[in-house]
Amino acid sequence: MSALPPPLDPPRRTLLGPGPSEVAPSVLLAMAKPTLGHLDPRFLEIMDQIGDMLRALFGTANPLTLPMSGTGSAGMETVMVNLLQPGDRALVGVNGVFGARMAEVARRCGAEVVELTGEWGRALAPEDFRAAAAAGRFQVMALVHAETSTGVLQPMDGMRTVADECGALLVADCVTSLGGTPVQLDAWGVDAAYSGSQKCLSCPPGLAPVSFSPRAVETLRGRRVPVQSWYLDLNLIASYWGGERAYHHTAPVNMLYALHEAARLALTEGLEARAARHFRHGRALAAGLEALGLSLRVPEAERLPQLTAVSIPDGLADVPARRFLLDEFGVEIGGGLGPMKGDTWRIGLMGAGCTRANVALCLAGIAAALERG
Ligand SMILES: *Cc1c(COP(=O)(O)O)cnc(C)c1O
Repeated sequence: MSALPPPLDPPRRTLLGPGPSEVAPSVLLAMAKPTLGHLDPRFLEIMDQIGDMLRALFGTANPLTLPMSGTGSAGMETVMVNLLQPGDRALVGVNGVFGARMAEVARRCGAEVVELTGEWGRALAPEDFRAAAAAGRFQVMALVHAETSTGVLQPMDGMRTVADECGALLVADCVTSLGGTPVQLDAWGVDAAYSGSQKCLSCPPGLAPVSFSPRAVETLRGRRVPVQSWYLDLNLIASYWGGERAYHHTAPVNMLYALHEAARLALTEGLEARAARHFRHGRALAAGLEALGLSLRVPEAERLPQLTAVSIPDGLADVPARRFLLDEFGVEIGGGLGPMKGDTWRIGLMGAGCTRANVALCLAGIAAALERG
């Protein structure tokens, strides 16, 4: 190595993309507290508190509720790899990038996957799943509650009934909804859900809260073949988070401090107040974008407050405009994914970043980008 790099000096940005979102100062400070051993009695108490707070966030009494070491996709993989065995059938709603990712992960578990494809930028209806499920019985029926690639909030009403009709465990991707939009796993009858730390929980990326219902745990215990991923095997991990405290892998101790503080902040604010804040600022952003003459990709009734997808106006180049926002306003917004790449921006107002001031800053930046052309 020729010369050592200087000490890290990342610039301060306003993160208004699809995640990571702005991290509250007390969450960053929590990460700087003394590292404990992962079996230290004091750390075990902290783990129990995290479990309790995650249950409150997920709206569930599920004992098996814990953060996986990894990002949201590790949560997705945890759910699929634990619930599916080779030859099982999975029905997956695909109306965006993350539904497509779930289908791919399920296929890699050896499942026979039936994709229910829906229009990008629209929600799926229980009748859509019912029609697709007419093909028979399924082990898993999966959908994305908050589709970050399109900005759609998927209603959950009626989904449990369809899952029952086809004998399936109901799986929900709550990566972008948890801590932003009400999540009620028990009321919805969801059997397994996963999330990520860096969206509306406003924690750095690195942890994936998951929750499994007693029925999902029964499936897990009764598997014919061991979970193919040793690292994500919940039968093993549950004995570290649950009673025996058996070593499996070294918990990312300081990341868990961050999640502890982020969950505490969310619950201190109150989930209803927090959802109302996301709704209020999301609606203000949408109104502001429309006032600038831009058109939104999702009809109002299906819009996700914390992630707004907006068409890039003709004549404005995607990447240079976003670069302008970053350089001149310190604002990061997201580009489109999949078929929306190049013609859509995704603006996130998540957790600590969901403020009236950020709505104003973002609109000012976009107005300047439009003026500049
Ligand atoms: C971000 C996201 C994921 C993937 O999470 P990573 O942390 O990027 O691995 C999965 N599903 C949805 C809906 C997401 O928004």
